[in-house]
Amino acid sequence: MPIAQAAREELVGFRGRLIGPEDAGYDEARKIYNAMIDRRPALIARCADADEVARVVGFARDSGLLLAVRGGGHNGAGLGTCDDGVVIDLSALKDIEVDPQARTVRVGGGCTWGEVDRATNEHGLATPSGIISTTGVGGLTLGGGLGHLTRKCGLTIDNLLEAEMVLASGERVCASADENPDLHWAIRGGGGNFGVVTSFLFRLHEVSDVFAGPTFWPVELGADVLSAYREFLPSAPRELNAFFCFHIVPPAPPFPEEIHLRKVCGVVSCYAGSEEDARKAMAPLLDALPEPLLHGVQAMPHPVLQGAFDGLYPPGDQWYWRADFVEEVPDEAVAIHAQFGAEIPTMKSTMHMYPIDGAAHDVGSDETAWSYREAKWGTVFAGVDADPANVAQIRDWSIRYQEALHPYSAGGAYVNMMMDEGQERIRASYRGNYDRLADIKAKYDPGNLFRVNQNIQPAAG
Ligand SMILES: Cc1cc2nc3c(=O)[nH]c(=O)nc-3n(C[C@H](O)[C@H](O)[C@H](O)COP(=O)(O)OP(=O)(O)OC[C@H]3O[C@@H](n4cnc5c(N)ncnc54)[C@H](O)[C@@H]3O)c2cc1C
Repeated sequence: MPIAQAAREELVGFRGRLIGPEDAGYDEARKIYNAMIDRRPALIARCADADEVARVVGFARDSGLLLAVRGGGHNGAGLGTCDDGVVIDLSALKDIEVDPQARTVRVGGGCTWGEVDRATNEHGLATPSGIISTTGVGGLTLGGGLGHLTRKCGLTIDNLLEAEMVLASGERVCASADENPDLHWAIRGGGGNFGVVTSFLFRLHEVSDVFAGPTFWPVELGADVLSAYREFLPSAPRELNAFFCFHIVPPAPPFPEEIHLRKVCGVVSCYAGSEEDARKAMAPLLDALPEPLLHGVQAMPHPVLQGAFDGLYPPGDQWYWRADFVEEVPDEAVAIHAQFGAEIPTMKSTMHMYPIDGAAHDVGSDETAWSYREAKWGTVFAGVDADPANVAQIRDWSIRYQEALHPYSAGGAYVNMMMDEGQERIRASYRGNYDRLADIKAKYDPGNLFRVNQNIQPAAG
């Protein structure tokens, strides 16, 4: 019997949707953000609430089926879906409750960051997330969360107070400092390995308008700009987040026509504070370099910044990326960046170097599962294009770029920016925390039901 039909017979009274390959809307429902990944699940279960998540977990487990969990569906490696198995689709879990007095927000497991940012901004508050508003809260948070507010407010996981979860057993539990603290430790960086998070509780910070935008120089100045940036950023105030990047300027507003399609290097900055302080904070970098092609920094509401890249990166492009953590950027690495930056293969391909310092360094390497606290940057080499014919080209650039710089890296990578790169790479990314994660995995998911992720294997009993 087809799996979707078996699910309908077993999950009587299911209020969400059970979608199989024969059903209308199946092709739309199975699409994920990265169009390079084309998987055909046997069942997509769009659950209406946490009880339904628990029922589908039980159905998949008892039927011996592969189980994937989909938050926002943004994962580069396509870890929110699978072939032939069951996908728990959390997209209907959209509740958002802001408590301005307690400075917290409770967020359904299927929300995207844009939805959360808009709700918290109404109260002049925010929690740190990423740089694209369509990314899922679920995957981004569980892997760590690097974004425009990292230096001021820490990683997303540093603000995760509580998570309501469905375990492999079907049991519903809370993970916090007081309840199941081992689970709370593990989910702050350990990804979706330990269960399905149906709601998150985050701490909020006073962030309303930010002073933000891109500053671009010609790509030929790549080595100069990167050298100046690596000296400047670590001593800049925490309110300033600025990531280094290579881009090709999109041929559209708000970019001036004279720089359309030009290869550039630069920084995308976000100052969470006043305009006057923002200008002071950026001055040492601008003073050290020639006049930029574009200095597009201006005041804007935080959610506007969060959505600034959305138009350039809609769902449905081909994505291949690699990543590495970095402690130092020696001159040899600067030269390699300058070479590959000048060779960006397509308009949407990019390299971003996200700062990991400031508040992210206030937490120790073993205080959460996210082990690279002493890294200063997380680098991502993203080959992106709308046309499937260009996959080989973008993939090749991304791999060659990362491999050339890997000897200068800290060893591991941010799990949320990895492809399917094997167990050794996953171990390298958790380092000293891996064995503890494997013990916690053995306690909460001994059968490795949740294995469509950067997988932590349960420790042998
Ligand atoms: C365009 C783009 C921009 C990005 N920018 C950033 C950025 O600025 N900062 C950053 O840190 N990351 C960024 N990322 C990486 C992003 O964090 C990961 O791709 C993340 O996995 C996406 O989460 P998702 O919920 O959308 O993904 P999905 O594909 O739905 O899921 C990814 C993984 O998380 C698990 N998962 C998702 N939700 C849950 C849940 N509620 N409970 C249990 N497991 C769950 C899934 O099982 C899967 O293993 C970006 C990705 C893209 C494609």
